[in-house]
Amino acid sequence: DEPFGPGERGVYYIGPPIDHKRARCFLNEPSHRTHEPVIIERADHPVSRSLIAGSALKVLYRLKDAGYEGFLVGGCVRDILIGITPKDFDVATDALPDEVRSLFRNCRLIGRRFRLAHVRFGDQIIEVATFRAEHGGDEPDLEGSIEEGEGDAEVESELAADPDDRRVLDDRGRLLRDNIYGSIEQDVWRRDFTCNALYYNIRDFSIWDYVGGFADVEARVLRLIGDPETRYREDPVRMLRAVRFQAKLGFTMDPATADPIPRLAALVDGVPPARLLDEVQKLYLSGCALRSHELLRQHRLLEHLFPATAAHLAAEPDGMASRLLRAGLESTDLRARSGRTLTPMFLFAVLLFGPISVAAQRRFDRGLPASQAIAEACDEVVSGQARRISLPKRYSIPMREMLALQPRFHRRAGRKALSLLTHPRFRAAYDFLLLRAAAGAEDPELARWWTEIQDLSQEQREERAEALLPEAGEAGPAKRRRRRGGRRRAGSSPPA
Ligand code: ATP
Ligand code: MG
Repeated sequence: DEPFGPGERGVYYIGPPIDHKRARCFLNEPSHRTHEPVIIERADHPVSRSLIAGSALKVLYRLKDAGYEGFLVGGCVRDILIGITPKDFDVATDALPDEVRSLFRNCRLIGRRFRLAHVRFGDQIIEVATFRAEHGGDEPDLEGSIEEGEGDAEVESELAADPDDRRVLDDRGRLLRDNIYGSIEQDVWRRDFTCNALYYNIRDFSIWDYVGGFADVEARVLRLIGDPETRYREDPVRMLRAVRFQAKLGFTMDPATADPIPRLAALVDGVPPARLLDEVQKLYLSGCALRSHELLRQHRLLEHLFPATAAHLAAEPDGMASRLLRAGLESTDLRARSGRTLTPMFLFAVLLFGPISVAAQRRFDRGLPASQAIAEACDEVVSGQARRISLPKRYSIPMREMLALQPRFHRRAGRKALSLLTHPRFRAAYDFLLLRAAAGAEDPELARWWTEIQDLSQEQREERAEALLPEAGEAGPAKRRRRRGGRRRAGSSPPA
């Protein structure tokens, strides 16, 4: 039996899992572009409507009933195939943005050159994109996200223009803009990885596969569509996305996809810092921080995202900052997986701790008070870092406050010390203290003291703090005295 039989629209897939080699002939290079998809029928794949958000189904059915094509595409199809719950649902259609808008009351168009429809259901947004003709990525910075109304004239003139004139590359081959609507056959080639280019058709619940993505998902292989070097030059963020998907999905990178990365990693330097902030948050705040971080190092990308951190880690691979980073990323992952809130400011503190502590120590040795040494060190490291990844003040200022509070944990004696508990940054600072203790940068006894004190009544707290005063200490129990003697003294303790 032929596994691929001719179908009404494309080549239908029948029977056992697609043979990997067989699927290869549908891949990538223009000469192989058959413009006919392999079609995996509903009976042969696990994407059931019960796994698709009701709001996404509504959008798809509404499009279909109005005579348009409606497909789920991208991460949601991929995630369902490997058995994880999709983060969001993206829809692709042949309806033009204005046509999409006229179908939905709860719809807003965003984007300047390429307009996307956002259809809102409560707090969920279904993104509906018209098929696009050129490949270039979905990056918001490339196109500038604006409210509809502005820039309409520009949209009209772009649409009228010759498609071949519309692709603008910079001197490194980076794609600066592309914006023409097209057919599904064209839409496929702008997508990054084969596993992200599967289209679930609402008409008959089949999956359309132009690039061997179905076989790659089954084999857990991450493979760039097209010539990897060209695709990375067009949009260097694809290197970061490769790492992110490798970490998140546990896929293996196809050698042709992985090999060029270290050589091309420096192209990341040319990516706008705001876009890198976006991407770094996805890498580090989605529950796979530790794995993503290790992979960024392996692929030589870390030094282009966090140069000071990468240099510090390379110089002291088993040092304190490295241990703190590991502990910090582990706890970030635990938080993310249990659905708790995560703040980028804490993440940046964890990532930049090595360089900051070196810079702080230098100032401390020159005689600056510990808190001031830390605050100035933060400013120095942040200003270097912000040239790569934008680090908004809403993150950098709380980060500096949190780190500059660290020396205050050493002051425990007397009621006044307790005011730290009501500091707006106490909670974060305390969490950071625990990390420092876990990394061996702080006496665990000190961390325990601040842990215990939080569970006590105000009266008991005062009792404990006063027991640490020198005069009270003499009368206090032996255990107290020992602890007082064991605490680090200002002047000898490292500032951070
Ligand atoms: P997740 O939602 O899990 O982060 P995703 O695959 O859905 O993963 P998105 O960033 O939501 O990723 O993008 C949706 C789809 O758009 C992708 O699956 C891919 O097909 C395409 N895409 C996004 N960014 C790029 C890019 N830089 N280059 C090419 N295609 C891209
Ligand atoms: Mg997505």
